[in-house]
Amino acid sequence: MNRFPDLIRKYAFKHPEKKATHFEGRDFTYAQFRDRIQGMGQVLVNHGVNPGDRVAYLGQNSHWLVEMYYAPCVVGGILVPLNYRLSEDEMVEVIADCTPEVLIVDRHFVPRAAALMQRCPSLKHLIFADWDADAADLPAGTPSYDALVEAVGPIADDAFEDRASDSNDTMIIFYTSGTTGVPKGVMLSHANLLANATGSGHLYGYVDTDVLLLSGPLFHLGTGSRVYTAIAYGTTMVIQPRFEVLETMQIIQDQRVTTMTLVPTMLRMIMDHPQFGDFDFSSIRCLTYGASPMPVALMERAIAAIPGVVFCQGYGMTETSPVLTVLTPADHVPGNPMIGKLGSVGKPVIYGDLRIVDENDNPVPTGQSGEVIIRGPQVMNGYWNRPEDTAHAMRGGFYHTGDAGFLDEDGYLTLVGRTKEMIISGGENVYPIETENALTKHPAVAQAAVIGVPHEKWGEMVYGVVALQDGKTTTEAELIAFCREKIADFKAPRGVTIWDGPLPLSPTNKIDKKAIREVVLSDRKER
Ligand code: ATP
Ligand code: MG
Repeated sequence: MNRFPDLIRKYAFKHPEKKATHFEGRDFTYAQFRDRIQGMGQVLVNHGVNPGDRVAYLGQNSHWLVEMYYAPCVVGGILVPLNYRLSEDEMVEVIADCTPEVLIVDRHFVPRAAALMQRCPSLKHLIFADWDADAADLPAGTPSYDALVEAVGPIADDAFEDRASDSNDTMIIFYTSGTTGVPKGVMLSHANLLANATGSGHLYGYVDTDVLLLSGPLFHLGTGSRVYTAIAYGTTMVIQPRFEVLETMQIIQDQRVTTMTLVPTMLRMIMDHPQFGDFDFSSIRCLTYGASPMPVALMERAIAAIPGVVFCQGYGMTETSPVLTVLTPADHVPGNPMIGKLGSVGKPVIYGDLRIVDENDNPVPTGQSGEVIIRGPQVMNGYWNRPEDTAHAMRGGFYHTGDAGFLDEDGYLTLVGRTKEMIISGGENVYPIETENALTKHPAVAQAAVIGVPHEKWGEMVYGVVALQDGKTTTEAELIAFCREKIADFKAPRGVTIWDGPLPLSPTNKIDKKAIREVVLSDRKER
């Protein structure tokens, strides 16, 4: 029972009629879900997929993609969900890295898939996973997912025992966000993802009656990990093709959604929407958030604006399946003694041995910042095709996160930034998060990003970039003075750019500091 298909079979036996997935008016019960996954397993075998082979998926969220999280591993294959926001050249690079033979595409990316079939020598078969294969302008002879599954008919639960992947085998490869470099393929096993599902799920308070909304992109583990949690707990998954704020609020109301995962940007978009107050959110039990820093001011606003809902934060990364620490619902309740920890990311999950070390991997005292490292069953099998990067990240048997933070006396972790983003200004170490939190406390500021820019005298200087709330104004001087009241002078920005419109976002909706840095540096050069 330590492989996901076994869990699906268990629920198909226990409550065959229970709804497993809901997508655009199409529902599948757990019995149908099992049958479709096993049927697709046979289809993949028919297309030449052998144990260890990769299968790529290019599409928005759908029940087909959720099924594909499990179908390849039934026959020993490995899913690679492609980030559809990548350019064609970037996708060609990812496919050249993981060399899948089968590509599955939905209606949104048919021309792109046709181009990839031409350009990527590894790709041999294209399958169309969507409503109407006849209506789509597909390359000749492209079969439809549903027709293929229907044609193979029912498959016995133990049909593929000789080739199914084992608990420790890689079942999926997720590419990282590429925030700090090129995206790397992270190999995750059933055991990794189960350790995450159970190790974080009990803190999120998951129960089998939950109705889980999947809105964030399923090519990213932030939302993807919930597809595993759902199976660990046997919940119903409601799938939205992509986050669209108005539609998301409508789905929450109509489907009586009880829980979902948001990145801070999505939460802000929901609360800022003019129709925010018109929807019934009373079904929601818990909203979980994570993936990028949550400004304390935004969280405080959300707690006040959505009463009756508990919040829960997860911190983690693709390499750790992903959750390392959780700030629990109790930590978000006003009046709770731990409410003062809102700026932290909570305490380590039970399966993690989490430590803070200096640049020589020596432990630092409580309260002192250093790199976050971890070992535990949720740590990846390694980076695909990158043994040197794997060895470097895993030195001493601990995964090195590249995030900097400190643990307090109560065991709560506070992140201060990425080790690579640390700004050294006049000999002082400054991590962007503290400065960003100060800037977002200003009533006119909606979003803030802080970077280090080269400076003759100080080496680097702390530089802020902000997007303003609709209709509000402020000045560079006012923002600098405001920060100096809140934090030490050396942490306050020396310069601020007021950005025109919202800050640019990376493909996984994180604030794109690489893009911001380029603009700031070229602007400063021109001046
Ligand atoms: P790459 O590894 O390619 O540079 P990435 O690290 O952004 O990109 P992900 O695995 O998607 O790729 O993101 C993990 C990172 O996101 C963490 O290392 C951390 O910096 C940040 N993060 C995740 N959760 C939180 C959180 N709750 N608060 C603050 N930061 C978070
Ligand atoms: Mg990373």
